[in-house]
Amino acid sequence: MIDPFGRTITYLRVSVTDRCDFRCVYCMAEEMSFLPKAELLTLEELDRVCSAFIRLGVRKLRLTGGEPLVRRNIMSLFRRLGRHLETAALDELTLTTNGSQLARYADELRDCGVRRVNVSLDTLDPQKFTEITRRGRIEQVLEGLAAAKRAGLQVKINAVALRGINEDELSDLVAWAGGEGFDLVFIEVMPMGDIGGETRLDQYLPLSLVRARLQQRWTLDDSDYRTGGPARYVTVRETGRRLGFITPLTHNFCESCNRVRLTCTGTLYMCLGQEDAADLRAPLRQSEGDEAVEQAIREAISRKPKGHDFVIDRRHNRPALARHMSVTGG
Ligand code: SAM
Ligand code: SF4
Repeated sequence: MIDPFGRTITYLRVSVTDRCDFRCVYCMAEEMSFLPKAELLTLEELDRVCSAFIRLGVRKLRLTGGEPLVRRNIMSLFRRLGRHLETAALDELTLTTNGSQLARYADELRDCGVRRVNVSLDTLDPQKFTEITRRGRIEQVLEGLAAAKRAGLQVKINAVALRGINEDELSDLVAWAGGEGFDLVFIEVMPMGDIGGETRLDQYLPLSLVRARLQQRWTLDDSDYRTGGPARYVTVRETGRRLGFITPLTHNFCESCNRVRLTCTGTLYMCLGQEDAADLRAPLRQSEGDEAVEQAIREAISRKPKGHDFVIDRRHNRPALARHMSVTGG
C-alpha cells in the first residue's frame, strides 16, 4: 500500500477498546462515558480486519487502547494474530499498555509471539502515580514490569512530560530505566480530547527544554536508530540505553509516516492529527468475505493526508481534535 505522497504503509495500530482501568489526567476526563459494547468490533472482526491489512502489506501490528489488556478474552486475539508471525507474513506483533495487567499476561504474550512491549509510566513516585492515573497503583505496574522482564520481553517505557507534575523527575527516570535495562521515550502532551478541568497549556512541557536539562547530567549521543515510529533517539552514554523523544508539536515527523490507526469501532484514521476517516465496520459486516473491506482499506490509503496540524498556544488553548487518544490509540 503506497499513499499519494509515496509513503509505504506497513504499520497498523489498533485500539481494541476505549475502556481503561486508569483515568490519566492528560488522556481522559474523570467521568468518561464509554462506547456501548455493540459498537465495538468483535474479536473475530478485529482478527479479520488485521489479517486483511497484513495481506495488503502491513508488517507491524500494535494493539493499544484504552487499555488493551482489560478487554475480555484479549489473549485469544493475540493468539490468532500470532499465526501471522509464524508464517512470516508479519514481522512484529506488539502492544502499548499501562502495565496494570502485565503480571498476569506477560508469559502468555511471549507465548503468542510478542517480543517487545511499550509500558506507560510517567513517574516513580507512588503518590504522584495515583494522582496522574487518578486510580492506579504503581506497585501493580512495577510487578507487571518485573514479570515482563522475567518472560524475556523487551520493555520500552513511555513517559509523558508534564509541566509541574513530573518534570523534576525526568532525569531520575533516565537513571532508573538505564538500571532496569529498559529503553525510554518521552512524549509531549498532544491536544486530544476534552479532559475536563486542566488545560493543555498548563500540562505542556516542550521536550527541547527537557533535553537541554537532561544534558546537564547525561551525555546524549545522537543515534540513527528508528523504529518506524515518530520518536527521535539518542543513546545515553552513561547507561548505554536508548532515549527517544516524541515531539509532535515542536517537530514535524509526517514525511516519514508509515502508519494508520484503527479504532475499536472499525474507523480507520489515516492520520492521528486529522479528522478524515474511513469506516471499515460496515464492509466487514456486509459480507463474510473480505473483498469489501480490502477495497475500503485501499481506498482509504489513497487519501492519506500529508500531515497534521496540532497547535498548542494561547489562541488555540482547546483540544485541536475532539476525540481522545484512548479512542484512536496512542
Ligand atoms: N493504556 C495504554 C497505555 O497507557 O499505554 C495504551 C493507550 S494510551 C492512549 C497510549 C499512550 O498515549 C500512553 O503512553 C499515553 O501516555 C499516551 N497519551 C495519552 N494521552 C496523551 C496525550 N494527550 N498526549 C500525549 N500522549 C498521550
Ligand atoms: Fe488509560 Fe492509557 Fe489513557 Fe492512561 S493513557 S487513561 S492508561 S488509555
